[in-house]
Amino acid sequence: MALIVQKFGGTSVGNTDRIKNVARRVAEHRKRGDQVVVVVSAMSGVTDGLIKMAKEIMPLPSEREMDMLLATGEQTTIALMAMALHAMDVPAVSLTGAQAGIVTDGVHTKAKIQNITPKQVKNHLRQGRVVIVAGFQGETAEGQITTLGRGGSDLTAIALAAAIKADLCQIFTDVDGVYSADPRIVPSARKMKEISYDEMLELASLGAKVMQSRSVEFAKKFGVVFEVRSSLNDNPGTIVKEETKNMEDVVIRGVALDKNQAKVTLVAVPDKPGVAARIFKALADASINVDMIVQNISHGSGKPATDLSFTVEKADLLKAQKVIDALKKEVNFAEAICTDKIGKLSIVGVGMRSHSGVAARMFETLAREKINIDMISTSEIKISVVIELAKGEQAMKAVHQAFIK
Ligand code: ADP
Ligand code: ASP
Ligand code: MG
Repeated sequence: MALIVQKFGGTSVGNTDRIKNVARRVAEHRKRGDQVVVVVSAMSGVTDGLIKMAKEIMPLPSEREMDMLLATGEQTTIALMAMALHAMDVPAVSLTGAQAGIVTDGVHTKAKIQNITPKQVKNHLRQGRVVIVAGFQGETAEGQITTLGRGGSDLTAIALAAAIKADLCQIFTDVDGVYSADPRIVPSARKMKEISYDEMLELASLGAKVMQSRSVEFAKKFGVVFEVRSSLNDNPGTIVKEETKNMEDVVIRGVALDKNQAKVTLVAVPDKPGVAARIFKALADASINVDMIVQNISHGSGKPATDLSFTVEKADLLKAQKVIDALKKEVNFAEAICTDKIGKLSIVGVGMRSHSGVAARMFETLAREKINIDMISTSEIKISVVIELAKGEQAMKAVHQAFIK
């Protein structure tokens, strides 16, 4: 008998037939004597639909009310899933995030889990019930409903698996594993048998939305081994776990494309101490995450000056523009140029540590495709470049072909 956490994403519970399909799979496990905790997302499109309605009412709604609204998506699914199991004579009970004991901080729309007290979950399991938990949501110690950031049901599943010391954690989705690139963009992408936490974390935070990056961070911290697999077939999935020695034999594990980035260039910024600190402090104070930064000598004016470019998330571009406009007089740069027509293409692999010439090969490949590189950043196990958005998918396919056999 095993204790299993199974998470089903939006497409996997996208209509009542799919919900019945999931219930059948869960029932099979239970028949074998396993104890099952099921974590579900909102039905596909529901969260986006709720956000759209909120924005029709006002452009920047209160984040507390957003959480109140978004939490309803997952709540619909848990009740329907419990009913689908009841219809098959399987004892089951649905729990909200709060009822499952998920306590978070108070940062609405991107709350962090502080602790989990899964008392109700354990009680119901002991009494032979399948427990269905609403993903993506929690509650503050003061009883306010919160959500865990987009894709946050992955985090609910992994955190619950750690809290109840599950034997197995399975993330069921609409692809049958983690591929060397998004299989919807690169049809020749290969499914991996296994991948290290660090590689999965880089891929997830660089645009591979198959796993929420915070959930992978959590899994690494608490040593939760998990499997990504399909809810629609029985193909073996991908195991995400601690790095093993032979993982370094593969130079590049995967390629990711992030289309959600924007770039700001400040032209002719005075070249003197304290200026960059002033600019990035103002952005940080507005809770804007800056990713890549590049500084060049400016050829604009006679005085010593630099051009300063940085990237932010597309969703933060308007906010960043406001901050920069407010600094113009004080910092005295010539102009700010903003664009969201960029893509960030990245290659990831722990093998990069022990292989040379990887960056050169990536840049040569892009040169052959006549794709200009705008910015570059590297870490021990990844290389990222900013390129024109319109050429993102072409670049992704070419770089994938150059590295992944
Ligand atoms: P869910 O609703 O189950 O959470 P998501 O839509 O969040 O599913 O994530 C699954 C999607 O992630 C796939 O449909 C696929 O297009 C995309 N994806 C992006 N990169 C990858 C990758 N490297 N491997 C597998 N899928 C990927
Ligand atoms: N429903 C939420 C979202 O669409 C959480 C999730 O699906 O994981 O982001
Ligand atoms: Mg997801």
